[in-house]
Amino acid sequence: MQEAIDLIAATASFDVSAASTLVIHNFLALPCIEAAPHIPEQRHVMWGATRGDLCAFALTEPGAGSAPRHIEASAFLHEDRVRISGRKIWIGLADWARWIVCFARASGPDAKGRFVGVLVDRQAPGLNVTHEHRTLGLRGIIQNTLDFQDVEVPSAYVLSRDQDGWGAAASSMNRGRIGVAAMGLGALERAIQVAASYASHRRLGKLRMIENSYIEQLFEQMVLRREVVKAMLGASCRLVSAQGTPNVHLASATKVLSSEWCGLVADQCVQLLGGRGYDEGTPVAKIYRDARILRIFEGPTETLLSHLGRCLLSRATRDEIADLFLSLGAAPVHAAAIEELSGLNETDGAVLIYAGWLTTLGLAQAVMSTGRFSASDCAAAAADLVSSELATLRSRAPARLSFEGRIRASRILNTFLQDAASSIRSPVLTDDYLKLVQYV
Ligand SMILES: Cc1cc2nc3c(=O)[nH]c(=O)nc-3n(C[C@H](O)[C@H](O)[C@H](O)COP(=O)(O)OP(=O)(O)OC[C@H]3O[C@@H](n4cnc5c(N)ncnc54)[C@H](O)[C@@H]3O)c2cc1C
Repeated sequence: MQEAIDLIAATASFDVSAASTLVIHNFLALPCIEAAPHIPEQRHVMWGATRGDLCAFALTEPGAGSAPRHIEASAFLHEDRVRISGRKIWIGLADWARWIVCFARASGPDAKGRFVGVLVDRQAPGLNVTHEHRTLGLRGIIQNTLDFQDVEVPSAYVLSRDQDGWGAAASSMNRGRIGVAAMGLGALERAIQVAASYASHRRLGKLRMIENSYIEQLFEQMVLRREVVKAMLGASCRLVSAQGTPNVHLASATKVLSSEWCGLVADQCVQLLGGRGYDEGTPVAKIYRDARILRIFEGPTETLLSHLGRCLLSRATRDEIADLFLSLGAAPVHAAAIEELSGLNETDGAVLIYAGWLTTLGLAQAVMSTGRFSASDCAAAAADLVSSELATLRSRAPARLSFEGRIRASRILNTFLQDAASSIRSPVLTDDYLKLVQYV
């Protein structure tokens, strides 16, 4: 795992699209195929996959993205065939792929609406690529809309035979989150390198940029963030070695921290390069655009934080989080978070995000404090950075009674929308204008 992570990070430092190909193919799609020895010629499929037969992972639908359990594509299981109907959007690599791992809801006798993964030949009759999405970044690979119109596949290609297929999808996505975190690390490192090279020779009056104390501190902070992300990835890989699969909570926290900090660092590096940062002539503009997707796919930051927050607050899952902190040698950090959160409304969206950040930064603090995952000279300073981020977070803790605040927030937005609707610049907010029509 650590070797794969190093390779993905190195690739991302040149091109995030290429690194994304590695993650989709190797971390998302292939493990689903590898875990299904019953599929016909499985070894041949795997052999081809190591030699360029790309595999895509098709989960997202127009009505189910950050909450993928609500997918509606159907897989009608009948005797020895399965018939798939539905639409998938933003499927990376789809039109270049040899195989598509497609998730759907099973129907038919004995199916009980369970979640199934099916391996589908890209050339199967009825499977059409209907759209290629033009995206803000990640332009080195394609993302497609796929229409499945009664696509028939032998039932031997159903990946998870008797049990619910959600487990296979979730396990791949956890691996995928570690992969995305590695992409964030590589992109962040390259952005710092380029900005440091510029700042070391660019003169601002008598001084070189790098000699300005504000800029010096900015670079220090960016390098410390990189150190924390690297250590979190090291800890995630260590747990994969120890337990065979990624730890879902640590994988989510690592993905959140890496993608958020990659976005922050990319933004700071564009600023440091001035006009050159905005110019496509330097690699930083591309890194800035590419970095943006890292916060959205494989679980948007807010979805993952809410999930982590819910796990921390719920009695049913609290012990899992406690065990994770314990395994990292930081049980008191967990106990402090639980105490701090007692009395807060466990279903409130803002509380869940706050609790998710407490868990994420708490895990980062635990990883840094063990001293096992960062041998660098700057490990202690990186641990201090995490502590100061935690202190800043706590200063913004949600109020116990947030009801009045919510009413005020909703009133402010409604007033704005009324003002804007009567303004001369008011657009016609139809689906067509918003270009949302292709997704519904
Ligand atoms: C370039 C690209 C490549 C992709 N590749 C693939 C692929 O290969 N395979 C695949 O299956 N999918 C892929 N996707 C889809 C991607 O995984 C989804 O876009 C993502 O899961 C978010 O779903 P959504 O866009 O429907 O957002 P929505 O579900 O509409 O969510 C919108 C926003 O709501 C916010 N939000 C969500 N939950 C909460 C919460 N609890 N609290 C507060 N705020 C919240 C988040 O900010 C979120 O971004 C890709 C997308 C893109 C853009």
